Amino acid sequence: MDAKHSQIVIVGGSLAGLTLALACATRGVPVHVIERSARRVQGGDSLSIDLAALVATVGHDPRTHPVLPVVPAYRDRHLTTWPALYAWLHDRAAKTRGIIIQEGRAVVSVASLEDRAQLFFSDGSEMVADAVIGADGYHSTVRRAIAPEAGLARYAGYLVWRGLIDEKALKRPIPLPSNGGLWIELVDGYRLVAAVLPGRDGSIEVGQRQVTFAWFDVHREELLRRTNRVTEDGNVVGTLARGTIDNEIRAELLALVPRLWPETWAEAVAVGIRSAEALSGAPIAEYEPKRLSAGGLAIVGDAAHVVSPMTGSGFASGVEDAAVLSRLLADRRVNEPFSAPLARYEAARLPFVRALVRHSRRISSDFHLYATTV
Ligand SMILES: Cc1cc2nc3c(=O)[nH]c(=O)nc-3n(C[C@H](O)[C@H](O)[C@H](O)COP(=O)(O)OP(=O)(O)OC[C@H]3O[C@@H](n4cnc5c(N)ncnc54)[C@H](O)[C@@H]3O)c2cc1C
Repeated sequence: MDAKHSQIVIVGGSLAGLTLALACATRGVPVHVIERSARRVQGGDSLSIDLAALVATVGHDPRTHPVLPVVPAYRDRHLTTWPALYAWLHDRAAKTRGIIIQEGRAVVSVASLEDRAQLFFSDGSEMVADAVIGADGYHSTVRRAIAPEAGLARYAGYLVWRGLIDEKALKRPIPLPSNGGLWIELVDGYRLVAAVLPGRDGSIEVGQRQVTFAWFDVHREELLRRTNRVTEDGNVVGTLARGTIDNEIRAELLALVPRLWPETWAEAVAVGIRSAEALSGAPIAEYEPKRLSAGGLAIVGDAAHVVSPMTGSGFASGVEDAAVLSRLLADRRVNEPFSAPLARYEAARLPFVRALVRHSRRISSDFHLYATTV
């Protein structure tokens, strides 16, 4: 057995895991991040972020060098692209003392020991740590050990077709300035959220930007069940990833574009749908946790709670988890086992995240009702 002592292990090095790693390191708590992808993690398209909350949590300001390209969205929110945020967090974490990132290593199970925790890897090796934090997304392995009875995230009744395309792929640039804002349309039971975002190089010049869209569609349950993305009992177990959406479905969506979407976005949506590599379909999932920690184990981000993107809170709630958990870990009393701050984390966060998931369910159910009765 290869049992090595390590302080705190974070399983999952995507948005929530890297945010937590930075939050811990900023507060003097060293961490070891283990990510199963060997290459850079693949994620979504666009995200709304609260810059002030991000700065306060990770201890780096995305508005100073190296700058994270953003555009204003609404109130105190900004929009950025998923790849840009991931790259910024990864770069910051890789350069921060107290953070070790190990990629290409998959955790197959974890267990809480008396006052510590144990990890088992796909290569047969094992590790003992003082605490293991799961930031391993909504199929979380760590959650299975914390709440074995809890099951998976439930299908919220709609999927979101998403695309992120280069503005230069369009015949004409989007006739909107780069000063931000989300465009939201509801037509014939469908919902479109679209926006212009900084280009891949961070440019916000017209013609050089990227365009994002999210098209909410309640009519895909049969497809999701047939393709095994949603189980018979309504759990979400996969997404329609880029490159997997067949021509027939794309032709069906394309035929709807001129009838549904305004000229401003119609070409961008059509370009996104035509490009097999740009289009993905995410069945929206919701998961309300009963537990966030057990002994030396805890969970953050989508591993802990999953809400609809209509709440705008997916990433933001992971940032809040990181802020609370890192502070409690940093304030741990001398000689106190790690299970104590992890239990305090659960007490502090659980009521809030459960209320957030219930709020998400209400929004989803209102949308579903509108979309099926319009
Ligand atoms: C369609 C859609 C639109 C969204 N829009 C928004 C939005 O506008 N605003 C917003 O705030 N949020 C939005 N979200 C939500 C947001 O994307 C998520 O909340 C966020 O990305 C979750 O990050 P995470 O790090 O918790 O999980 P993930 O991104 O799922 O990362 C989990 C990581 O853990 C790794 N991992 C998993 N298992 C293991 C293992 N066993 N061993 C090692 N590593 C492992 C994975 O490889 C992955 O890198 C949206 C989500 C969807 C589906």
